[in-house]
Amino acid sequence: MEKLIRLTKQKACATCDICCRFPEEKPNLKPTGFKLIKNKELFICEAFDLKTGKCLKYSKRPLDCKIYPFAAAKSPDKENIMLVLDHLCPAAKKINTKKEILKTKIEAKNPIEWEETFVPVKALKKTGISNDILNELTTSDILFFNSYLPADSGLSAFSFAYHFVWEDFFKFYWKLIDGALCIFAKDIDNTFMPIPPLLPLEKTITTAVYERCFEIMETQNKGRTEARIENIPENRAGELEKAGYRIVKKDEEYLYERKKLEHLSGDKFKHIRWLINAFKKEKNYAFKKYSLKHLNGCADLLFKWLSEKKKKAANDNESFLLKNIDKAHKRAFMNFEALGLEGRVLTVGDKVAAYTFGTPLGKKTFCVMFEVADHEVKGASQYIFMKMAGEFPRYKYFNTMGDEGIKSLRENKIHYHPLKTVPEFIAYSKGKQ
Ligand code: SF4
Ligand code: SF4
Repeated sequence: MEKLIRLTKQKACATCDICCRFPEEKPNLKPTGFKLIKNKELFICEAFDLKTGKCLKYSKRPLDCKIYPFAAAKSPDKENIMLVLDHLCPAAKKINTKKEILKTKIEAKNPIEWEETFVPVKALKKTGISNDILNELTTSDILFFNSYLPADSGLSAFSFAYHFVWEDFFKFYWKLIDGALCIFAKDIDNTFMPIPPLLPLEKTITTAVYERCFEIMETQNKGRTEARIENIPENRAGELEKAGYRIVKKDEEYLYERKKLEHLSGDKFKHIRWLINAFKKEKNYAFKKYSLKHLNGCADLLFKWLSEKKKKAANDNESFLLKNIDKAHKRAFMNFEALGLEGRVLTVGDKVAAYTFGTPLGKKTFCVMFEVADHEVKGASQYIFMKMAGEFPRYKYFNTMGDEGIKSLRENKIHYHPLKTVPEFIAYSKGKQ
């Protein structure tokens, strides 16, 4: 244990007064084997030297102190002992969780209770307890969520941002069932799974996991709405169908070869190139990385774009989407970094003429989640899309999501000659029609 790496930088600890001093006599996180002594409003560890701010037993300090800001804690549902990172520590966010934790051996002994400031890192051990309690998933949990994603799924739902841009409408929860990360989304009277259960290293999900997921959803929904798992890839939809679940096709996502979108060579892209050349005649245009200084310009463009689109909405589905989509875009403007989104803007003079946000889907595919362009600026949409494709050369494919049954959206996506479409499915409870 003496070889344990130091997890936080010494400089960060020298200017911080969180460790070794506690607000209560019996805190949840405490140094095992050391007494706490009351000192004014606080309880101080007996080995802490108030004058120097140093630990007098540094080489003999307990494991709790050695691994902090990591700790072993019971998950809120008490079903697992988790390795957690305490975000109360100001240095915690700077720790490269995967790298540090691979080097550090932490045992699941004497787990402490869950605290609001804990962020799950990985499951260490099952406790043997089983219940229907769900654990809240927040934007701080992105690394935990990502660690369960397959190396390449191709579908947009296999990204953190896809779900959390809708946080105004849903609260998200997680539960580990037989080692699989199961994500649930909840609104007032509806609990569903926005993504099928996830297991690292592409292991197979057993039917017992699906059965437990449906049991939990049915208990929560109390018959008000039907339990369902959304955004299921084709191969897993087949497994679920064999297991007796009712499968319905949801949508198809468009997949392109990224290089072709970047170069737009050949006759089939002639019209797009013509529009791009028309755009290039604009004076003072610039393509930039999105930052918060573009927030107001993007919000103005979104407002203009939505007012035009709402007037032309062809059906109820399109109207419904347009009514709610502004909240998702605003989440992306405000929280792009926390959501793992890459944003780009196209400005003409001091105005935003187009913006786009996307996120990686594993190692091979990049997903463009939003693109909004000013229709009065000819070619702005085509120019920003081409530039975005050039920004991410490490990805072989670009996914532009589905068309939601909207004709104009479908025509636009087909115009770029997709390599293929990738279907996604919904699974409903067994025995229901
Ligand atoms: S809370 Fe973090 S930064 Fe502060 S003293 Fe403890 S380990 Fe160091
Ligand atoms: S043992 Fe040392 S590091 Fe641990 S709480 Fe006490 S003074 Fe701090």
